[in-house]
Amino acid sequence: MHRNAYRAVILLATLLGGIGHAAPPRGIVVEVTPARQSLTRNQDIIVTVTIRNTSRTWQYLPKWQTPFAGVQAPLFDVTRDGLPVSYLGIMVKRAPPTSADLIALAPGAARSSRVELSALYRMDITGAYTIRYRTDRLQGATAPLAASVWIDGRLPRGLPESSYEPVTTAAPAGAGLTFNHCSNAQQDSIAASVQAAQSMAQDGDAYLRAGVLAERYTSWFGPRDEARAATVARHFDAIRDAFATRPITVDCACTQPWYAYVYPNQPYTIHVCKAFWTAPLTGTDSRGGTLVHEMSHFTVVAGADDWAYGQAAAGALAGSNPDRAIDNADSHEYFGENTPYRNARRR
Ligand SMILES: [Zn+2]
Repeated sequence: MHRNAYRAVILLATLLGGIGHAAPPRGIVVEVTPARQSLTRNQDIIVTVTIRNTSRTWQYLPKWQTPFAGVQAPLFDVTRDGLPVSYLGIMVKRAPPTSADLIALAPGAARSSRVELSALYRMDITGAYTIRYRTDRLQGATAPLAASVWIDGRLPRGLPESSYEPVTTAAPAGAGLTFNHCSNAQQDSIAASVQAAQSMAQDGDAYLRAGVLAERYTSWFGPRDEARAATVARHFDAIRDAFATRPITVDCACTQPWYAYVYPNQPYTIHVCKAFWTAPLTGTDSRGGTLVHEMSHFTVVAGADDWAYGQAAAGALAGSNPDRAIDNADSHEYFGENTPYRNARRR
């Protein structure tokens, strides 16, 4: 690439990075290459993702923002005939990254992985698809090219996604708690955890309804702002409502070290994992709070994302990027857990 053009790309990546001014561009370039450009309904959609370090220094990337340990987050932006395509894969609540969670790339090195996309994105409708790697949370990275594929799918072209419900969990109507793969002891623990989550959601909702946005709000969602506060209030109203009135299913089959995960478009099924069972009932990173976090992910509830994990990063996000903080699941969790206690509704 021409040197000036290269500089322009780096500058653009920095500007688009949001909090990018705090970190220099890192020279990570991501390519997505489809195995086939035209596919029929019985073929899997295989792409090769290559992450290349074009800088002169070692680079360290959180494993979960790469496909190298399986896709555990919405790593791609997929469109069909220009419209966004839903992500169907998992979203995980994690502890902040340790060195064991980082992938090291030497200067000039590249690493590739093959990914099957149609189990992760709605790709059963006929159309022209574009697939672009998301670099908005892989700081300093660029993905200059989108991959294009044509899919002759099982469903007709132009069908709106919403006219077709993907997978819904069969659950009794109305409020209630259903268990999958949970032992008696686990069921007991979950019932208490749902109660704790419900209290947190009610308390958070009441605080926001009072409308005096004191330290409890600003610590997790940033400076007072009417539009943002209205969004957070809507989220907590929906979270409270979901715990109070919706049929919740908790699945205990997960054996990963995570706290929990959900499929955002499969309300209200929450999969709990190993870290959940050793977490306290209430307080920071608790079982109750984890359920608030997961509930915030469902598209029909708050549609929250995972921009930052852990209290330190979530607190920093409130200051550096409040628009992301109000869209961050852990920020909702910490506001709900309210530990340390900051409930005073004073001005
Ligand atoms: Zn999450």
